[in-house]
Amino acid sequence: CGIVAFVADHSIAERTVRALEQLEYRGYDSYGFAFVVDSGLEIVRGVGPLSEQAPALIAGGLPTAHAAIAHTRWATHGKVSVPNAHPHRSFDGKFAVVHNGVIDNYLALRRDLTATGVVFASETDTEVIAHLLARHYADTADLDTALHATLAALSGEFGLAITCTDQPGLLVAARRMSPIAIGIAGGAGYVCSDPIAVAGQDGWIAYLEEDEIAFVTEDAVRIASFATPDFPVREVQKIALT
Ligand code: GLU
Repeated sequence: CGIVAFVADHSIAERTVRALEQLEYRGYDSYGFAFVVDSGLEIVRGVGPLSEQAPALIAGGLPTAHAAIAHTRWATHGKVSVPNAHPHRSFDGKFAVVHNGVIDNYLALRRDLTATGVVFASETDTEVIAHLLARHYADTADLDTALHATLAALSGEFGLAITCTDQPGLLVAARRMSPIAIGIAGGAGYVCSDPIAVAGQDGWIAYLEEDEIAFVTEDAVRIASFATPDFPVREVQKIALT
């Protein structure tokens, strides 16, 4: 339903919570964050309105995180519950994924992964994406190869934001039939499904086209097609935010 993610040279935890609140108007049933911390991923999820929980979350002390991905869910596969809220984590603990849309072939993918010993923590279609990334990453130790193999295996609609603990300064985004924008705003790289998440800030935005992937760091972005494994890069069309 809503995606926002930031990466910066300073902690962006509180900013990520506030930006996700901006997406609340679209309606949702649950929310969640994956903060990239020194020891790995810290995942915080809940059911119900984020605006009611955000003050307590912030007052309770958010982790120091230079990267975070966040999601508001509109359940399509699996009931409204904390285990079904995004982000979903891979079995190796390295990947976290947030997803807008529907993965049409998730049952077949889930069956294949289960047969190799993967234990699922949710009923969602989304969770297969996290485990597929980990499976291909374990096979190749190469992030680009894992991303291409995973995206090539998916049918359906997806806007994605992905983080990998082996590359804590990088956000990956991808889209098919579900809007995703990226850019630099307020001294941070970002990914979002709706420009309202960064409206009025100092910076710029660029929109992904169908079957494109983006690599976002604190001060640079790269947009490529994921149709072929070599990820051919295109020029980024930057639109000023203010
Ligand atoms: N299909 C996913 C789920 O049910 C994502 C739903 C959404 O777009 O929020 O968890």
